[in-house]
Amino acid sequence: MTVDTGLVSSRLLELQTIDQRIRETREQVESFDATIAAVDEPVRRLADEVEVTSNRVRELRLEERRLRLAAEGKRERVQRLEERLNMVRTIREEAAVQAELGLVRRALDQEELDVVSLLDQIGRFEDRLEIQREGLEEAQSAVGPRKSEILAEQEGARAQLASLETERELCATGLDQRYLMVYDNLARGGRRDAVAPMTADGACGSCFSLIPLQVQNEIRTSAPLVRCEACGVIVTAPMEAPEDASPETAIGG
Ligand SMILES: [Zn+2]
Repeated sequence: MTVDTGLVSSRLLELQTIDQRIRETREQVESFDATIAAVDEPVRRLADEVEVTSNRVRELRLEERRLRLAAEGKRERVQRLEERLNMVRTIREEAAVQAELGLVRRALDQEELDVVSLLDQIGRFEDRLEIQREGLEEAQSAVGPRKSEILAEQEGARAQLASLETERELCATGLDQRYLMVYDNLARGGRRDAVAPMTADGACGSCFSLIPLQVQNEIRTSAPLVRCEACGVIVTAPMEAPEDASPETAIGG
């Protein structure tokens, strides 16, 4: 069986390069989140303030309605007591009705005062809300363009990530599955170098430990799945030196 050892080597290295770029692009996409959060910080703070104030206004409005209903009830009670006062027969009965009437009227007066002071408070909170909303709108329009700019950049990075992932899939499809499995395991373990071509003088391309001669020959001729005994990377056949440069042969000891 003949094996194109150069092809296995270049495919694995290509895969590693793509994975490296995927990692970098993914980090880039994520870093935009932090940038957006930082740019958005003043807006978020103002939005929180607006929310707190409008909640307060809502609570005060509810309280106002509750007080108004209570006052309404007391006014009806006052009216009924006044009607009853016209129908009392004894002084004692009249005194009792008068006493109750007095109590209800005082309570009613108090509630009406409370409504007035609530309205006053509501007015102040609504003024504050208005100012806060204006501030929020200003901050939003100040931050808006910068934010859309970053979002667009992030979108660009996402698109790039998607196309890299497609590229990786294509590259992986062309690879011997045994290599792919070992490679993926190494890469998943967080290794930056999962594969390295053997150097021209027979050392691991990652840690430069010398590889036994017999294994060197196998690597050159049949591309067995060999892992460096020292550092664990997959060692593939040396890369064909490009016509001009020969970076592989430059390294050595
Ligand atoms: Zn090694």
